[in-house]
Amino acid sequence: MSVLIVGSTALDSIKTPKAENPRLLGGSASHAAVAASFFAPVKMVGIVGRDFPKRYIDLYKSRGIDLEGLQIADGKTFHWSGEYEVNMNNRQTLETELGVFETFSPSLPQSYRGSDFVLLANIAPSLQHHVLDQMTRPKFVVADTMDLWLNIALPDLLKLLKTVDGFVLNDSEAHQLTKETNILSALKKIHKLGPKFVIIKRGEHGAMLSTKEGLFVSPAYPLSKVVDPTGAGDSFVGAMMGYLSTSRGPVEKNIRKAMIYGSVVASYCCEGFGLKVTSRITRQAIDERVKRLQLLTRF
Ligand code: AMP
Repeated sequence: MSVLIVGSTALDSIKTPKAENPRLLGGSASHAAVAASFFAPVKMVGIVGRDFPKRYIDLYKSRGIDLEGLQIADGKTFHWSGEYEVNMNNRQTLETELGVFETFSPSLPQSYRGSDFVLLANIAPSLQHHVLDQMTRPKFVVADTMDLWLNIALPDLLKLLKTVDGFVLNDSEAHQLTKETNILSALKKIHKLGPKFVIIKRGEHGAMLSTKEGLFVSPAYPLSKVVDPTGAGDSFVGAMMGYLSTSRGPVEKNIRKAMIYGSVVASYCCEGFGLKVTSRITRQAIDERVKRLQLLTRF
């Protein structure tokens, strides 16, 4: 079973109180695809410009990511720059340059269309929809989003939500979407928009899943040092989808454990700039942190 992932493939310039790193490999699809690759074969859909460094293509390849759906176009790669405050939770976007994403209209390779698990990582909801429309009959589709799309593309997002199984968003986005401050009230309203599985990400406080079976709270792996949390959410959902796609049985049965794997891969993501740490870990290192998380939460 493979996971199809569409989202942004970017160059990120990131500033933290301690360091500044320009033009790192970033983007929602990059983080999610690398995270998913520890569990399953990944097919990635995206676009980069001619300025995209070859070493980043090599990094995707080293993780075995299928790049048939990655277009290389004339123009500049999507570039995002952001700056973190001292507490490393608050982030400000300094600049977003769409570059080749401005005219992107993905046409899926034939070999991608039958994928059972689809992750519509953060990108314009109209693009997420366009990809989904080309799929044959996926088994489980999850969409992620960000505040920007709630602000400028809400009708497109609401249309998309009617067609997906799962929706992942962070707590401030849940509040923005529903106008509810209480998380349970927000979850109720989000289910009414379509998705049967709703996951609210709460950064260092973990994530909460809501399904018809009830609620599940997944902890974040405690870290003594956060270097750069960019892409942690994408890593979480990427690893979750990768794990789910290779697990036997219904999604309901496996999703809790999949979220734990998601939390662990996200924790590695936070320990280095961009994909520096995530791209170097092993499945064994992931399994060890999962065991430690299990011990930490048993009572
Ligand atoms: P996260 O930290 O999980 O919110 O994801 C950060 C990633 O989102 C970065 O690698 C950025 O390249 C990417 N990103 C930022 N803004 C956008 C946008 N407007 N559309 C798609 N991806 C974006």
